[in-house]
Amino acid sequence: MAFSSVSADIFRAYDIRGVVDDPSKGLTEATVRLIGKAIGTVALSQAQTDIVIGRDGRLSGERLSHALCQGLLSTGIGVIDIGMVPTPLVYMGAHAACASGVMLTGSHNPPNYNGLKIVIAGQTLSGEGILDLYARICQGQFAIGQGQYETKNIIPDYTQAILNNIQKLNLKLNLKLKVVIDCGNGIAGKLAPALVEQLNCEVIPLFCEVDGNFPNHHPDPSRPENLQALIQAVRHHKADIGLAFDGDGDRLGVVTNQGEIIWPDRVLMLYAQAILAKQPGAEIIYDVKCSSHLSDVIQKAGGIATMSQTGHSFMKAKMKSSGALLGGEMSGHFFFQDRWYGFDDAIYAACRLLEILAESPVSASEVFAQLPNAISTPEINIALPDAQKFIFIEQLKKALLLNRADTDAKLDINFKPIQMITIDGLRIEWPTGWGLVRASNTTPNLVLRFEAVTEAALFTIQSFFKQAMEKIEPSLRFDF
Ligand SMILES: [Zn+2]
Repeated sequence: MAFSSVSADIFRAYDIRGVVDDPSKGLTEATVRLIGKAIGTVALSQAQTDIVIGRDGRLSGERLSHALCQGLLSTGIGVIDIGMVPTPLVYMGAHAACASGVMLTGSHNPPNYNGLKIVIAGQTLSGEGILDLYARICQGQFAIGQGQYETKNIIPDYTQAILNNIQKLNLKLNLKLKVVIDCGNGIAGKLAPALVEQLNCEVIPLFCEVDGNFPNHHPDPSRPENLQALIQAVRHHKADIGLAFDGDGDRLGVVTNQGEIIWPDRVLMLYAQAILAKQPGAEIIYDVKCSSHLSDVIQKAGGIATMSQTGHSFMKAKMKSSGALLGGEMSGHFFFQDRWYGFDDAIYAACRLLEILAESPVSASEVFAQLPNAISTPEINIALPDAQKFIFIEQLKKALLLNRADTDAKLDINFKPIQMITIDGLRIEWPTGWGLVRASNTTPNLVLRFEAVTEAALFTIQSFFKQAMEKIEPSLRFDF
């Protein structure tokens, strides 16, 4: 295979992802073998001797894992294959064994996708690190050796670690929580229901058989349509809570006993309060898509609220450098460094939620009703080609930042923000709400989100963004 036939498009901001067996733009076994060679070479250059590999429940997983393994072993690095597991187990395995790991997963993408999430010497690869793998593949310069291969089942260790961590569940009130768990036929089904049962809960499993065809719904709990079956099941069984996992078990969705979806920024408020009650002054990190009420809740509870750019690799790096005890993203990635290891682990996060609910004398819907809520939109995607999206954001920033200094002359809009945040796209905050526009790192889209105290304020903020964006790119199509 010519090295140049590997498409640059599959090397993305947080991971590698592509359509399986698409020879021009995707992941073939030959491509994955070369990626394995590149990863092995980089890991060896950082004094790594072994690397943990795991895969999700996709149909292409076994043969791509085999190809990955061949590539890695050919560089001389040792491979510890932990088999079909949720992504957090690869992070856990890497943390415990050798500091490096590769998870073969298409996450929540359609069945014909697959991809790789990579940790080398304790660092999650992103941006430059991922592009460096591509450069090495193009140059064809790989280490040569013969690594040792071994298999290991770490599910018992992982499960026991969580049982030791959350052991007091339900002892206080002596009540059994009734929990519906929807794994969307993703790999979390292999262990999450059994684990939660061992925590002394009654589990009603929904789509927990691992099936790479995803025959029921997409394993993506960030979209309301994928939570409808869970909502129905929670109501039908009169359950205390509904939990949903994405395809590889690193993102969590939550539904209350009344069937209300609680978006991750409000779940994060609850985690923050629980941690800050025991660890006053702790830092908590969240991404730019989260509610402005989140920082209020954190500060009121005596914590330090830090906003970060979106992306699980960026979040993990920031968790490490800051020593924050908790992190979370609007996408449903939660990072506990309080009593856990700081990587994103939706299964552990689900257990921490059960722990909070088990200690609460009131229902989940009453627990969440105590947290502030705002009128907000879900994520809104507006198509813009990859080649244009980042340039557009820079132009918009320039126009609005200049506009501000220029007393509103350029846009003819009454524009008096209290804050302009530019860590990831542009988030503009007013006393009545905020709007965000950023370039998606994974799709040819601009991503927008809005929040406000009233519907009228929400409309005003959306109109402002629409007008400002149309001035720069008149071809944009808005559906608000
Ligand atoms: Zn995922």
